[in-house]
Amino acid sequence: MSDLNKLGLAEARDKLRAGDVTSVELTQACLGAIESAGALNAFVHNTPELAIEQAKAADLRIQSGDAPDMCGLPLGIKDLFCTKGVPSQAASGILNGFVPEYESTVTQNLFDAGSVMLGKLNMDEFAMGSSNETSVYGNAINPWRRGNEDTALTPGGSSGGSAAAVSADLCLAATGTDTGGSIRQPAAFVGITGIKPTYGRCSRWGVVAFASSLDQAGPMTKNVRDAAIMLETMCSHDPKDSTSVDLPVPNFEAMLTDDIRGKKIGIPKEYHMDGMPAEIDALWAEGREMLKAAGAELVDISLPHTKYALPAYYVIAPAEASSNLARYDGVRYGQRATLAQGDGITEMYEKTRAQGFGHEVQRRVMIGTYVLSAGFYDAYYNRARKVRALIKKDFEDVFAAGIDAILTPATPSAAFGLGEMSDADPVKMYLNDVFTVTVNLAGLPGIAVPTGVDSQGLPLSLQLIGRPWEEGDLLNTAYALEQSAGFVAKPGKWW
Ligand code: GLN
Repeated sequence: MSDLNKLGLAEARDKLRAGDVTSVELTQACLGAIESAGALNAFVHNTPELAIEQAKAADLRIQSGDAPDMCGLPLGIKDLFCTKGVPSQAASGILNGFVPEYESTVTQNLFDAGSVMLGKLNMDEFAMGSSNETSVYGNAINPWRRGNEDTALTPGGSSGGSAAAVSADLCLAATGTDTGGSIRQPAAFVGITGIKPTYGRCSRWGVVAFASSLDQAGPMTKNVRDAAIMLETMCSHDPKDSTSVDLPVPNFEAMLTDDIRGKKIGIPKEYHMDGMPAEIDALWAEGREMLKAAGAELVDISLPHTKYALPAYYVIAPAEASSNLARYDGVRYGQRATLAQGDGITEMYEKTRAQGFGHEVQRRVMIGTYVLSAGFYDAYYNRARKVRALIKKDFEDVFAAGIDAILTPATPSAAFGLGEMSDADPVKMYLNDVFTVTVNLAGLPGIAVPTGVDSQGLPLSLQLIGRPWEEGDLLNTAYALEQSAGFVAKPGKWW
């Protein structure tokens, strides 16, 4: 069978169980696709030998009748996850040469279920960015193009390599992480599904920390069913992460009934942004009609503190990052700068950090250090925390009033050209996160689902935000939206 790399997780699982394909065949198809897709710069550390070894083990397991859902399915893993014996650099120069002695809990869960790792995926350095342009490995490239143009577009960020790889069928699915939108925005820019679960659902242990109170892992997949399958395996209670929750993980796939009759879907008036492209507005209106036609009730709601979300995020995230990144000092991990005669420990720290961190990371460390400094702590950091509590309360109030899920656009635009925003004022880049950061600040689950294309044929997505711990219900609403939208477009192959 050809084109096995084009399968989704559910399809491949069913074929494996039926004995129609083997994991080794699936894995070889993906390795072949990766080899001919160097132009996308999505995979940055390939692990073909490990992949074949894992695939052989999975095939034995499937033959013996003990096959969890994710068994034998070849995946890409974002470089932010520590993978034992495999380079894990968070796309940073400062972690050059770092090979972890341990496995992140999320990847361990996937491997315990028999999944296959094809390699590590490109991303923004330390997950800071919205375009994959801050990566030490260079840009990942979006497989989609505008009409007949050959302008290189961003696959979004920070999980840009994951997005490009899944959309170009280099793997069946990939892991991502989301601190302010880094699963949902790149998923939207390439026309795939991406879910950030409730904060605490997936263990953060072994995931290189950016902003610990916001970071969550999640799956990036070819459709909603696949997201349900993969998320279930990724989630677990983990004593090694004190913020991971001890709640049963439901069978999310079994909750996909496509029945959303009577569900109350909130439409927040504050998400009608000034200057929003007409196409995004139209997409949102279409999404409302689809959910209504499926039997849901639309309710106008207000989330009054939305306008403060971006400023609060861009205080809290850098503050936590500056503290988390203090550990990279040239002593314990990765690369140390070459020192001059007479340099002492201070010079060693300074030179290592100046050389090892890229510009955006340095900017965030400086902002974070500033907002946490004695003189400004109350004015910035404490105030941002108070704003965060108000944003969270906005959501609690609408859920208490009976809203089941909230429908918004996923991004303010389709994928943009590489370089188009990186030279601008950084705030312009930060505006990409305008619809997604509120969800991280409130710790809620959010999912991006592709529902249309723009006038140039680029994918556009809507976001659904759910109640805490109710990913199953959220996935089902997303499933209904996906079924109505019937989005099937794929990028034309040019690479
Ligand atoms: N784009 C946002 C940032 O740069 C979000 C990143 C993320 O979710 N990891 O901080």
